[in-house]
Amino acid sequence: MSNQWFIKGVKKGILTEGFPQLPPEKPPLRPSLLIGSSNFKCPVGALDENKWNPEKCIFCDKCSMEMHFTGDQKLFKINRKMNAFKRSLYIYIIDSGTCGACNAELFNIFSPQYDANRYGIFLTNTPRNADVLVLMGVETEGMKSVLEETYESMPEPKCVVKMGTCAIGGAGIGSKISSLEPDALIYGCPPSPYTILEALIELKGDKP
Ligand code: SF4
Ligand code: SF4
Repeated sequence: MSNQWFIKGVKKGILTEGFPQLPPEKPPLRPSLLIGSSNFKCPVGALDENKWNPEKCIFCDKCSMEMHFTGDQKLFKINRKMNAFKRSLYIYIIDSGTCGACNAELFNIFSPQYDANRYGIFLTNTPRNADVLVLMGVETEGMKSVLEETYESMPEPKCVVKMGTCAIGGAGIGSKISSLEPDALIYGCPPSPYTILEALIELKGDKP
């Protein structure tokens, strides 16, 4: 597979996404600010008094048929920037109960198309080398202690990112992950690779 990408790259030039320097080719859904009114009821209660709540939204897009949105709100929230990781950021992933889609989109950012490595973002397969613990999925009883032990085994400085509506708000199918306080939230169900990349770049103190 990687050979095919190499040959394509040699033949056609650079194939990596221009994002974040250029606007994304397919911008992620951003139902940020609601204008107008409607009797439409969001199935998971993510629209409350004309305000959109990204922590509950499952991005089903049903509301866009009924209502109109404006604005360009970011689909992530950084509570604490980690400038110590400006040169490189190693992430370790825990899936505590996902449908698999969040995993797929996160791994996409390491594909040749998005190439997160060019921003100094790497995957590690051990928490002992990790700077960031990325949590995905609803909180499951059996995984609670695993999350805590994994976080404990990471070296300082370290941070926690919750990714996807399951981990952030339970997505209407379970409980959100409550055992660890997040330094960043990445919204979406699943978040798009653009959103994940943008959030991680900002978390490490760089400007996309
Ligand atoms: S996209 Fe779906 S879940 Fe999100 S606010 Fe609209 S209707 Fe609700
Ligand atoms: S947030 Fe959505 S895409 Fe991600 S694991 Fe939950 S249901 Fe799947």
